[in-house]
Amino acid sequence: MPENAPFVFMGGTFDPVHNGHLRTALEIQQWLDIPEVCLIPSKMPVHRDEPGCTSEQRLAMVELAVADEPSLTADDREILSDKPSYSLLTLESLRQELGAARPLCMVMGMDAYMTLSKWHQWERFIDLCHILVVTRPGYPLALDHGMRAFTEQHAANSKAELLSAPAGKVLIHELTPLGISATQIRHLVASGRSPRYLMPDAVWDYIQSNRLYGFQNR
Ligand code: ATP
Ligand code: MG
Repeated sequence: MPENAPFVFMGGTFDPVHNGHLRTALEIQQWLDIPEVCLIPSKMPVHRDEPGCTSEQRLAMVELAVADEPSLTADDREILSDKPSYSLLTLESLRQELGAARPLCMVMGMDAYMTLSKWHQWERFIDLCHILVVTRPGYPLALDHGMRAFTEQHAANSKAELLSAPAGKVLIHELTPLGISATQIRHLVASGRSPRYLMPDAVWDYIQSNRLYGFQNR
């Protein structure tokens, strides 16, 4: 990756990673015309209802998913960290690596952005990065008053603004709508139905081999 290229990443639990994540990341990479977009799986919130999988397995699936796509990469800093997965810590660690001048951009779906004001020290994010919000089927632009004001205050007029400054802008970008969620995939697997074509075959193979999400041979 060139020294001054913007660093663009997408965080998430990726439980498991699916084509909604991968296609989003690839479309952003192409739209911004940057060398790559990085996926950063987070450590799990403490509880999940379904029999899930470990953080290491979620990371392994993300690594499998990006293995044959040079424009996508995986980063293990949150999974390997002994600290909790706070976006703030990730942004600080990325900023330290990138230096003060290099553009840093966090991509998130509309559903995640709608909850941003509940994230740990979220007001500090915008000093460290840009926020690129992508549309997601089922989540219309329905921001509360505070988030609407925040969005207007930091609104970028074009993608060029994200690429030229290190941080400070918010941009909402429309993507090819893909109504895929990890929740749907976990339910399919647990109920013995196939999630094929919603995710790379390599990830589905991994789920079956490791009997994740309640997968059972029939
Ligand atoms: P879950 O159903 O377990 O919440 P998920 O499919 O929402 O899983 P996450 O790991 O929670 O996946 O999402 C990571 C990031 O990817 C979030 O910013 C989310 O908004 C975004 N995202 C997930 N699926 C899509 C999709 N189909 N289209 C656009 N963005 C998506
Ligand atoms: Mg989600």
